[in-house]
Amino acid sequence: MTTAPTDSTSTEGGFLDLWYQERHNDEISLGLHVKTVLHSVQSPFQRVDILDTTGFGRIMTLDGLMMVTERDEFVYHEMISHVPLLVHANPKRVLVIGGGDGGTLREVLRHDSVQEAVLCEIDGEVVDAARKFLPYVASGLNHPRAKIHIADGVEFVRGSDAGSFDVVIVDSTDPIGPGVGLFSGAFYKEVRRILRPGGIVMAQCESPWENAIDLKKVYGNLKEAFQGVYAMTGTIPTYPFGYWSWGFASDTVHPHANIDMERARAIEKTTRYYNSEIHAGAFALPNFLKQRLKGVAANA
Ligand code: SAM
Repeated sequence: MTTAPTDSTSTEGGFLDLWYQERHNDEISLGLHVKTVLHSVQSPFQRVDILDTTGFGRIMTLDGLMMVTERDEFVYHEMISHVPLLVHANPKRVLVIGGGDGGTLREVLRHDSVQEAVLCEIDGEVVDAARKFLPYVASGLNHPRAKIHIADGVEFVRGSDAGSFDVVIVDSTDPIGPGVGLFSGAFYKEVRRILRPGGIVMAQCESPWENAIDLKKVYGNLKEAFQGVYAMTGTIPTYPFGYWSWGFASDTVHPHANIDMERARAIEKTTRYYNSEIHAGAFALPNFLKQRLKGVAANA
């Protein structure tokens, strides 16, 4: 976060021109003008900040890294939820790992077939801050069909019964700190064990433009556990490079060949980004990404 006095001659003694800045690497950064710092707490895992910005509403950052903004969160949360749920035959029990802001849970619970949506978030401070300062994003956290666990997702999956979920959604931070284990081949193999036949995992997989992360390794770890691995992309203005990717993996289900159009039509009435055309289109990859994922993603 950088500050600069912009008007030192004003009788009120000037005012602070506050900016949030996320440095994506040594050359590139994102800056948002900040009206107020609403909340800042150091948890056992990370610093949780809530800022009120001029252009993107309230935002949540963890250790200074962008997680959620009120203005563009719908893109990420709609795509990571509706894509797997609308190609699964009948999703009844869903597990969300991470996702303590509640946005993914909100979208998962738009599906009437979902009898129970379990969220496993490592940091209770994230859940508390979201409930208090991001009421719409966090609305899924208070839903009667939601079950919230504050625990490490790696341990939670390891401790879950075989075949106990239809869809697992990994809505994690980057592969640093507590999030590292959520990108490993061993973790994805455990995820496969807890999925029922016809099960699907959907995992956030970083930006296709990000060179600091070995994207082929990230998708390769999914490929270690599942027969079918596909990359999906979408545009999120406040995420690194404004372009994001998600991994879709299943042994049997194709990511867009059999979209349940009746359910999709119902969901499309509630969404601002998701529709069945963008669902299918999001798996059409640009050549540079096909080259990067050759051999690990079936659509590369
Ligand atoms: N959409 C965001 C993104 O792509 O950067 C992620 C949002 S969500 C807030 C990420 C959550 O994952 C954080 O609240 C973080 O505490 C949680 N998390 C990180 N490592 C975890 C772990 N091992 N088990 C469970 N939750 C974890």
